Amino acid sequence: MKKTYSGRYFEILEKRKNLPVWVHKEEFLKTLKENQIVLLVGETGSGKTTQIPQFVLEAVLNENPSSGPKGKKWLVGCTQPRRVAAMSVSRRVAEEMDVEIGDEVGYTVRFDDCSSSKTVLKYLTDGMLLREAMADPLLGRYKVIVLDEAHERNLATDLLFGLLKQTLVRRPDLKLVVMSATLEADKFLKYFIGVPLIKVPGRLYPVEILYTREPQRDYLEAAINTIIQIHEFEPPGDVLVFLTGEEEIEDTCSRITSKLGDQVNVMPLYSTLSPAMQQKIFDPTPDPVRKIVVSTNIAETSLTIDGIVYVVDPGFSKQKLYHPNTRVESLLVSPISQASADQRAGRAGRTQPGKCFRLYTEKSFKELEKQTYAEILRSNLANTVLTLKILGVENLLHFDLIDPPAPETLSRALDDLYHLGALDDECNLTKTGEMMSEFPLDPQMAKMIIVSPQFNCSNEILSVSAMLSVPNCFIRPRGEAQKAADKAKSMFSHIDGDHLTLLNVFHAFLQHNQKPDWCYENFINYRAMKSAVSVREQLVRIMSRFQIKLCSPDFNSRDYYVNIRKALLAGYFMQVAHLERTGHYLTFRDKDDQVVNLHPSNCLDYKPEWVVYNEYVFTSRNFIRTVTYIQGEWLVDIAPDYYQPANFPNSEAKRVLQRHYKKRRLSEERSCKIFCASNS
Ligand code: ADP
Ligand code: MG
Repeated sequence: MKKTYSGRYFEILEKRKNLPVWVHKEEFLKTLKENQIVLLVGETGSGKTTQIPQFVLEAVLNENPSSGPKGKKWLVGCTQPRRVAAMSVSRRVAEEMDVEIGDEVGYTVRFDDCSSSKTVLKYLTDGMLLREAMADPLLGRYKVIVLDEAHERNLATDLLFGLLKQTLVRRPDLKLVVMSATLEADKFLKYFIGVPLIKVPGRLYPVEILYTREPQRDYLEAAINTIIQIHEFEPPGDVLVFLTGEEEIEDTCSRITSKLGDQVNVMPLYSTLSPAMQQKIFDPTPDPVRKIVVSTNIAETSLTIDGIVYVVDPGFSKQKLYHPNTRVESLLVSPISQASADQRAGRAGRTQPGKCFRLYTEKSFKELEKQTYAEILRSNLANTVLTLKILGVENLLHFDLIDPPAPETLSRALDDLYHLGALDDECNLTKTGEMMSEFPLDPQMAKMIIVSPQFNCSNEILSVSAMLSVPNCFIRPRGEAQKAADKAKSMFSHIDGDHLTLLNVFHAFLQHNQKPDWCYENFINYRAMKSAVSVREQLVRIMSRFQIKLCSPDFNSRDYYVNIRKALLAGYFMQVAHLERTGHYLTFRDKDDQVVNLHPSNCLDYKPEWVVYNEYVFTSRNFIRTVTYIQGEWLVDIAPDYYQPANFPNSEAKRVLQRHYKKRRLSEERSCKIFCASNS
């Protein structure tokens, strides 16, 4: 049956045909027909992400009119490094094809699957495709895979390169399209030797670049001033501002609105934004009103907003950094690379000549790194190693990667997995390791969940895990309402720490029947809570697949919270800090220790001797965030091998541990004596 299309379909089709990639449609399809791998490089906004997968789909459907493997439909998959891009772009493509999202066109991102048996074109995060490969290394349902935004050099994309290189040999009928903005194309050509390259020139108008004469002390202040200047003195045209994270962006949005009122329409853009809000970015504003988009790096290449004439670039983004010595991976606001800065500037010249205001000096620009380092070189690799093991990669050092990580980083990851019980002495995956890899979580959290029944509290641990996996649930507005928000938060505070506070919030949300009003009154982020509920449901499903018991300690027992805290430690025993006499905490990882402070957001009104923490945050000082009080003895009970005092440098904590070990040994000897006496 032939489909009848709506008027909107034809309206969009006309616009689509004007995108630069359309000129190359025939050439692209012909090249793909003749080759197994094609590399496509094009300016951001030329239509790669939205159009190429549709071209591919058309060809696949034409060539394979009957159904695919096991009576199921063949799939075209297109990966995105960011979940917000996967969701937003797939919605756009569904609209372009005049179908409901989740039917023929769908998306899959972590904890959110919007695809069905009808789906033939699926946008998914690179991480999700990697997960699918873990279940089916040959990726049997796919006919063509498009790896998009290859220049971003995301960890998962890099792994997919290595993996697909192998898979393509075993599946001659599978095809791969690698798409990239015009950065780093040479590197891919060296990696995929002999692969044809298609270049799509974009429509780029000249962009005038303006630097500040002096370095700026406060880039936020400078950004807001620049926006006001642009609005007052520059001709019409929308503004795009690059900032680093949700809080900063929301904050800046309200400050601009309060200064410029309804002369402007200010819109935030970051990865945890609701789909409805994301879509707003693309709506044109009524005439004299200027659109100001305040965005994270997403707007650098992942999403193109038409009509931008002015770009404000403070020169920073949040980047993952890894300190191999401390084994700490953290998100840190860091200077961008020259390539990033140029890409940002390019956003101003999509529809007419534009201007880019760099809030740094020309000299500072020249001092920036040329390219951003690949994520694989900036990551804790524990999860990666686990993934590769499941994928059957035996020799990690010989796995063909574009930028192989340092051997020390690899061996540290192996160590961590060994301590967590995921690998045995011979570096083989254990049963626990296999189970851990099935959870789309970091290995420590997965371990915590798997062992939680031993502490009789898997229900509670699942709720805590769900809460840790969603964006911050506490809303803290600036100004007047801040006090009220802090007061509301304190109502949930648990005396033993933040993990248990999160558990309180989760329980309260359920008790109040998941009502949005209740959230609003208590300064709780309703959407975060809804996703926590959904994440929890999905984790329960994985649990039941492995027949891991769901259980709770008796709520009235004194040990209710003790059990939960012990289970936390059973997963996160490598993330513990000790309060030293100086009043600082010392993180306690073998060989290295770091002075840290409790993050100001914590709910404790005292400083416990030992804490387990969820996250390490580097800012002006080093902080540990989301902390809960634990007892030193538990370390000796729960992770005796890891906490051998001999493994640690001299510190107060080491002496405390030594005492605990001694106590433990004495009590073991005592019970042995009692046992021997009662047996004689
Ligand atoms: P590329 O991947 O080459 O950077 P895209 O395919 O993402 O380009 O985007 C091409 C064009 O499609 C954009 O310039 C924009 O005009 C349009 N577009 C993309 N997403 C949306 C959307 N959600 N709403 C409206 N227009 C969109
Ligand atoms: Mg794109």
